[in-house]
Amino acid sequence: MGDFMQLGARKPRTKIRFFLVLLIAGVIAAGFWLALRRGPTPVVELATDRPAVGKATTVTATFSEPVHGLGGIRLELIQGDRVEVLDRRELTRGSLVPWSRADGTAEIALTAVVGTTTLDWLDDGDVILRATADRSVGFLRRDESVVAERVLPVRRRPPRLELLSSQHYGQQGGSGAVRYRAGETAVRSGVRAGTHESLGLGLPGGGSDEFFTIYALPWDLGDPAEVRLFAEDDAGNRVEAPFLDLFKALPARVDTISLDDAFFDRVVPAIASRTPGFDDSGTLLEQYLLINRELRRAELDRVAELSRRSEPAFLWSGPFFQMTNSALKANFAQTRSYLYDGREVDRQTHLGLDLASTARAPVPAPNSGRVVFAGWMTLYGNAIIIDHGYGLMSLCGHLSTIETAEGDQVERGEIIGRSGATGLAGGDHLHLEIFVHGQSVDPLEWLDGKWIQEKVMAKIGR
Ligand SMILES: [Zn+2]
Repeated sequence: MGDFMQLGARKPRTKIRFFLVLLIAGVIAAGFWLALRRGPTPVVELATDRPAVGKATTVTATFSEPVHGLGGIRLELIQGDRVEVLDRRELTRGSLVPWSRADGTAEIALTAVVGTTTLDWLDDGDVILRATADRSVGFLRRDESVVAERVLPVRRRPPRLELLSSQHYGQQGGSGAVRYRAGETAVRSGVRAGTHESLGLGLPGGGSDEFFTIYALPWDLGDPAEVRLFAEDDAGNRVEAPFLDLFKALPARVDTISLDDAFFDRVVPAIASRTPGFDDSGTLLEQYLLINRELRRAELDRVAELSRRSEPAFLWSGPFFQMTNSALKANFAQTRSYLYDGREVDRQTHLGLDLASTARAPVPAPNSGRVVFAGWMTLYGNAIIIDHGYGLMSLCGHLSTIETAEGDQVERGEIIGRSGATGLAGGDHLHLEIFVHGQSVDPLEWLDGKWIQEKVMAKIGR
């Protein structure tokens, strides 16, 4: 009986405890529910196509909240007290109905072009780019924003550019050197000749703003107004200045080469079999044209690629070395008209010197440097490319044997191979080609010690 009474007395207390537990459970559940309703934090990212603002910098802000979506997005630019809304968009507004669910925002972007061309009030200094994402509003959901910011410098003027060297006489297909001063905001500078660029580097022993470049004037560039010294900054501001005092066009040199089946039989299958993916379905003439056009271009692209990794050092000195007792058989920038069965089938420009001596004559390294390629180069046959530094490279082609290897340091005049007739060669000879920043230039200039002294070394004060 006593037990029964006790139980009866505890009944209301148990009830209170039961409701308390229920309440706590309810609060916890509501907390979970709230967290789920609010969804993940929106992702806001800012990207620009340049690290600075000049005339025109493209800004892209991307926003995403894939669960509950975003209420609105905004892209702003701030300088001083001025806030410019570049772009904005209202998205889902949510609902006060607790079980409503806004659609998620997978990824949405706002893009704007900022710079002095669109915002004339911009001043030198910094700007803040701000991207804001508002969450979609709903029951028990706060309208909380997520902000991403990025500070960028504004540069309204291009870098300073001053010519330091003088008396620049250029020749079509030739080379030269120039010394100049570029302001501290310059990130790229050098010489532009048409579409070709010879990028400058810091002058050894010079001040921090002194640069130089050994430049190429392409053999097919006819307008000296297209030869300019330039400097640009990271905001895309660019300054150009003419610097050539004289420009000489190359005399037209045309040569005809007769092709026949005996020549095709000797050279085409030999190249085709060593070229992976070569299309040998056509006639020998068609295959020959494929080598002379497409593969020629591909090999020149390969040299241009190698030249971008040229060592920033003078690895060479003095005039370039011509193969001993050799006769000049074909010149630089000689246009070749290829005849087959009496009609012209192709026209290409020869961009090196053809030097003939005895068969399998020893081939000397044209100058000191490092071997960056030693192997098969389709129309050049067995070839060696030497990097002489600062964008200057030489190529020896049609070799019968290679007596050096990639990575080797070679001295001027050191024997690196034997002449031959591999690749597209009519007979045993050495094809010597010189490249300045990947562009073929006249090797005769580089064989001339006086020219090197006056037109290169004197210009850069060495
Ligand atoms: Zn040649």
